[in-house]
Amino acid sequence: VLTGTGLFKSYGMTRALAGVDIDVLAGESLAVMGPSGSGKSTLLHCLAGIERPDSGEVLLDGKRIDQLREPVRSELRRTAFGFVFQSGQLLPELPADENVALPLMLGGTARRAAVEQARQWFGPLGLQGVESRRPGQLSGGQAQRVAIARALVGRPKVIFADEPTGALDQATGLEVIRLLVDVSRSQGAALVVVTHDANVARWCDRTVQVRDGVLAGGQAETATGAEAKAGHRR
Ligand code: ATP
Ligand code: MG
Repeated sequence: VLTGTGLFKSYGMTRALAGVDIDVLAGESLAVMGPSGSGKSTLLHCLAGIERPDSGEVLLDGKRIDQLREPVRSELRRTAFGFVFQSGQLLPELPADENVALPLMLGGTARRAAVEQARQWFGPLGLQGVESRRPGQLSGGQAQRVAIARALVGRPKVIFADEPTGALDQATGLEVIRLLVDVSRSQGAALVVVTHDANVARWCDRTVQVRDGVLAGGQAETATGAEAKAGHRR
């Protein structure tokens, strides 16, 4: 569903991406690992149209999206992509359900309908009962699940997550990632998740390693990923 080919990106003298080819399928989860400063976030931003690569192409369903101009680009981001960040991405003054409804309202859905649609995600994500709470009244894991709901509510083709479990303890982080992988799989959405945690990566179908702006090693399939896919096919 999403392909990047020959991606280069520099910030001044710093070369963040030095020729990356990457490909992720519908319903597939891809973990992006690598040292700090290796270019993981830059890769995500280029794939998601947050930043424009200096050269190379990004294709969504076979169509080039890297050359789009505003406001087409932000429109595409809103309709085709969902984002989950490390933490602190919820609007503190809005209750959880309105935080989730936000992308729909930005797309022109009336507030009541948007909130109603948003609330349907709370049950499946184990968030029933916290709909009216503000982010400050949620645990870290709950807040991340609300953020996942917000990334999913627009039924994106690709979900990007940049260290979504970085601010959580190990157990809560694993719970959150399992949920993210499960939901993306059942929605048929591709998932691209940056993580430093090998245990998190293990839940994904595949892992790629970024080193100095290039992908190092193969796109090895993790054992769990292979099992999950085998299970999926049944
Ligand atoms: P981390 O694991 O610490 O988040 P990362 O792998 O996500 O690291 P990037 O954020 O992609 O790394 O950064 C890659 C390189 O590009 C780094 O050398 C970084 O300093 C540089 N860089 C990233 N964003 C910018 C920017 N906006 N301006 C200048 N340099 C940048
Ligand atoms: Mg980063």
